[in-house]
Amino acid sequence: MFELRQVSKRYGPTIALDALDLSIAAGSTTALIGPSGAGKSSVLRMLVGLEWPDSGQVRFDGEPLRRATLLEQRRRIGYVIQEGGLFPHLTGAGNAALLARTLGWDASRVEARLRELAELCRLPFAALSRYPAELSGGQRQRVGLIRALMLDPRVLLLDEPLGALDPVVRHELQAQMRDLFDALGKTVVLVTHDVAEAAWFGDTLVLLRNGRVLQQGSARDLLDAPADPFVREFMTAQRSIGEVA
Ligand code: ADP
Ligand code: MG
Repeated sequence: MFELRQVSKRYGPTIALDALDLSIAAGSTTALIGPSGAGKSSVLRMLVGLEWPDSGQVRFDGEPLRRATLLEQRRRIGYVIQEGGLFPHLTGAGNAALLARTLGWDASRVEARLRELAELCRLPFAALSRYPAELSGGQRQRVGLIRALMLDPRVLLLDEPLGALDPVVRHELQAQMRDLFDALGKTVVLVTHDVAEAAWFGDTLVLLRNGRVLQQGSARDLLDAPADPFVREFMTAQRSIGEVA
């Protein structure tokens, strides 16, 4: 579905991606993990075409990402930005329907789709008429998901979708989102810094560090056969309550 070949990206002196190679299979759920600054968000922005590699190539369905076809490609990709990224001056419905309206969907088609997605994402339909500031963190994430799913994209990219939520809401949304991913059967790529969350969602984990892929495989692969000492360190660095209580 996605292929990154020798993709490099610098921001001034900072090397965000360093000749990175990565393949993401259609229909898979892939979790990108790694320390802060590893390049996780940069990879997602490359996939959606918000950033361009300095060198190397990004392919989507075998086709190189090209500026000329970018808008059309972007419609096939739903993107949930870190921190939600909802426009504060638009209601939930206004946010979710923005792109559909610019594509000329009429009001009844928009409403039918919003109703369908609110149910799927377990958000009361009435909550969509509220502004982001009037929604809870969990509800804002659900609106972000609805927005990303609005045009029924084949691919869903999520950047730390549950990062800002309290543990109880996060736990609930983890369960519901995994059911949702299973039901939708889309290609999903999500970023998280939480190893347990990565293993919960991802059939494939990709551990990044310094703009390179250290290892790609199942959680079991990374735990049992770490390709690098840092893989072991990262996979086991998060304490569980059983260790400390
Ligand atoms: P992650 O999501 O893994 O924390 P990022 O992909 O956001 O990492 O960033 C990778 C590196 O690139 C970091 O060192 C970050 O500071 C830098 N970086 C990312 N975006 C920018 C930007 N727009 N301007 C300058 N530096 C950036
Ligand atoms: Mg990030």
